[in-house]
Amino acid sequence: MASLWLDTAPPIGFDEAGRRDADVAVVGAGITGLMTAALLAGRGARVVVLEARDHVGAVATGNTTAKVSLLQGDRLHRALGLARRDAVEAFVEGSIAGQSRLRSLLAARGAPAEERTAISFAFTPAGVAALEREVEAARGLGIPVESSGAEALPFRVAGAIQLIEQAQVQPVAMLAALAAELREHGGRIVRAAVRSVRTVGRGVELETGSGVWRAGTAVLATGSPVPARATSALLTASRSYAAAYRTSAPLPEPMAISVDSPSRSIRSAAGPGGAVLVAGGPGHAVGRHADPRRLVDELDRWVRSYWPDAERTHVWSAQDYATPDLLPWIGARPGSRGRVLLATGFDKWGMSSGAMSALALAGRIAGEEPEWARTLRRRGTTIAALGQAAGAFGAVVAADARATASALKPASTPAEGEGELGREGLRLVATSTVDGETRRVSAHCPHVGALVAWNTQDRSWDCVAHGSRFAPDGSRLEGPADCPLRALRRAPREPVAG
Ligand SMILES: Cc1cc2nc3c(=O)[nH]c(=O)nc-3n(C[C@H](O)[C@H](O)[C@H](O)COP(=O)(O)OP(=O)(O)OC[C@H]3O[C@@H](n4cnc5c(N)ncnc54)[C@H](O)[C@@H]3O)c2cc1C
Repeated sequence: MASLWLDTAPPIGFDEAGRRDADVAVVGAGITGLMTAALLAGRGARVVVLEARDHVGAVATGNTTAKVSLLQGDRLHRALGLARRDAVEAFVEGSIAGQSRLRSLLAARGAPAEERTAISFAFTPAGVAALEREVEAARGLGIPVESSGAEALPFRVAGAIQLIEQAQVQPVAMLAALAAELREHGGRIVRAAVRSVRTVGRGVELETGSGVWRAGTAVLATGSPVPARATSALLTASRSYAAAYRTSAPLPEPMAISVDSPSRSIRSAAGPGGAVLVAGGPGHAVGRHADPRRLVDELDRWVRSYWPDAERTHVWSAQDYATPDLLPWIGARPGSRGRVLLATGFDKWGMSSGAMSALALAGRIAGEEPEWARTLRRRGTTIAALGQAAGAFGAVVAADARATASALKPASTPAEGEGELGREGLRLVATSTVDGETRRVSAHCPHVGALVAWNTQDRSWDCVAHGSRFAPDGSRLEGPADCPLRALRRAPREPVAG
């Protein structure tokens, strides 16, 4: 099902490819790519945005909950425990600059963000302690977070903190405004899936299914950077589910998110027949939840416990990526001599981090990189972040081992809507049945060869290692893999014993 945002905003079309060269080729038409491209085009650069999917906003940005907030759950105090203080300060400065530039751009295009108070809340004593640490961290970093806000929520909580004058957007309308800004300055958005990006002479070549593009610089604004195998292998991918509900009960005025588990977030939004509630549920490491359908059922039950007549109108899902120190990576792909830039690691807060990345990348390309961006880019890795990375690597190995153990039974034909791993001779096969069609594809993700697992809610094959996702026919949906799962046609014969 399409998200509320994609369902209620007019689609953003593509341009003709024309000449396949540009000063800057931006890969990916989410907030990061479109805002980077719009800023560069506004400075006079010839810019093209290359987008793999058949519509703009198809991946995270069209399936977000779109709170543009500097209060991001309890992220700041956790980042202070993992990164150097000057890097967190630079992150805050960049977030403020990104949020402010995005809001002024949207206002200038006649699509202003709606101003709202942002609230982080907790149901448990451990959550309240995290909120206290967050207030202290935020104030120390110059963000005036207050220890209040519980009374503005439509349910009882154990504690809340708030930050006024934040914002929420309709993210597809936001992308439309960025696309209009880009096009007004001569930029283009072209449908093309980029397979490889090579540095050649003084520029780059981007190989796509429809030909080679040449540019001075490439920007990978693809969520998990693709193609950039080494960088993407250091990220953790987390997927979550959101839904919109029609209800006669009052809707929340603020935007709010819990800091304890299971995660809950709420905001209001314009729906097809009036305002609706948008609620978000818990995340899970991509490919590592046995039955994500259950998470949506639990979210429904939670919503109906406070809005009893809530009727679900839309349900959707998306994923985002986190770095070991929880701060975004905005810099150059290793070995690219600064010609292939990338931005990733927004940890589900890409409305401000994507905007911040756009300022950093456009500034760098124009020779005016902000000081905060340089500090953020040059930060080292702390021992705490190394520990985090080691833990994430261990979790990947364990998840792959569990998936392998579950795949050793003989392959069979799953029921409608289901998918299973199984063995056929010496190979592992991923078999699914969707809309009456049974399809068999390789069970190994082409990124680093880890196994995929069936997502019962999204009906997709999701890699248990770094979050690549594939449709039942194996075609790539998102994530670091740069090609599809191999389709398997005939089952090989079992070896004859004796
Ligand atoms: C459930 C959920 C709720 C969230 N809520 C919030 C929130 O309230 N506030 C907030 O700030 N953030 C939120 N986020 C995070 C935010 O949505 C993301 O960080 C942000 O949208 C990322 O934008 P992006 O442009 O970097 O990536 P995307 O929007 O994913 O765009 C990347 C684009 O690159 C394209 N692409 C990929 N590979 C290729 C290729 N090889 N060739 C061509 N194109 C390619 C993709 O098709 C895609 O369109 C949420 C995330 C999730 C998962």
